[in-house]
Amino acid sequence: MAVTVSGPAHDYLRPDWTCGGCPSGTPWPCSPARVEYGERYRDLGLTVVMRNLLDLAAKDLANSGQIFDPSELHDRFMAWTRTGGQR
Ligand SMILES: [Zn+2]
Repeated sequence: MAVTVSGPAHDYLRPDWTCGGCPSGTPWPCSPARVEYGERYRDLGLTVVMRNLLDLAAKDLANSGQIFDPSELHDRFMAWTRTGGQR
């Protein structure tokens, strides 16, 4: 039941939304983060959680003057949640 995760936590770093547990500059959510969030929020509205984080990320990136593609950002945060974190 309990999943042992070794190594650094795969948490997002604001305002760049890169992963704190992956090599520098890796976009969050990385694969381990997707697995972790998928398991943590599977029955608690994963899409709602990711939707909120997506909004937050878009604001952070815009406020810090970074150039990003909104549809790309949307896919990055939302596309994988539709499969229930299976991939
Ligand atoms: Zn990571």
